[in-house]
Amino acid sequence: MVIGVSGIQGDFREHKWMIEKLGIETYVVRTPEDLEKVDGLIIPGGESTTMIRIMKRIGLFDALKEKIFNGFPVYGTCAGLIVLAKEIENYPQESLGVIDIKVRRNAYGRQVDSFEEYVEIKGFDRPFKAIFIRAPRVEAWGEGVETLAFLDNHPIMLRQNNVLVTSFHPELTDDTRIHEYFVEMVKQYSKK
Ligand code: GLN
Repeated sequence: MVIGVSGIQGDFREHKWMIEKLGIETYVVRTPEDLEKVDGLIIPGGESTTMIRIMKRIGLFDALKEKIFNGFPVYGTCAGLIVLAKEIENYPQESLGVIDIKVRRNAYGRQVDSFEEYVEIKGFDRPFKAIFIRAPRVEAWGEGVETLAFLDNHPIMLRQNNVLVTSFHPELTDDTRIHEYFVEMVKQYSKK
């Protein structure tokens, strides 16, 4: 099994290290062809507008969208969540639309740019340190979306079938539990 990490823009190296810590091979994805070398993909935090613009230019946007609709597992953190979302409420930007959520960019970022908070995650036996950096806030979600964690009544970790998102950054902690969760999703998919 090889887990891809999108190297288009953002903090992809941290995700790569987290997966390698689990003893799993990684590959930095930068072209549509690279997608064929991996069993799943992580889209990191960074700047969603830049990511989407570059992905479109190099043909990665459409190739990835089609793969995800066919069951390919993806995990997006922060900007990655925005890239995967169906609708961005406060910014006119097309996104992949593969998870039925409506998000507001930089919604936590007025007074404080970044903060951390211990949160409960469904199925985890102890709290997780969630780090938020100019994070998007999920304002609405569809019936098919499973909410795995909340902060102040807004979901911060969600899953719709083969698409997982968090508005926070587990790659900036030592805690590999969310990456392990994603690896399990990829294993399920590889078996099919
Ligand atoms: N504010 C960024 C965006 O809207 C996301 C921030 C992050 O990924 N840390 O794309």
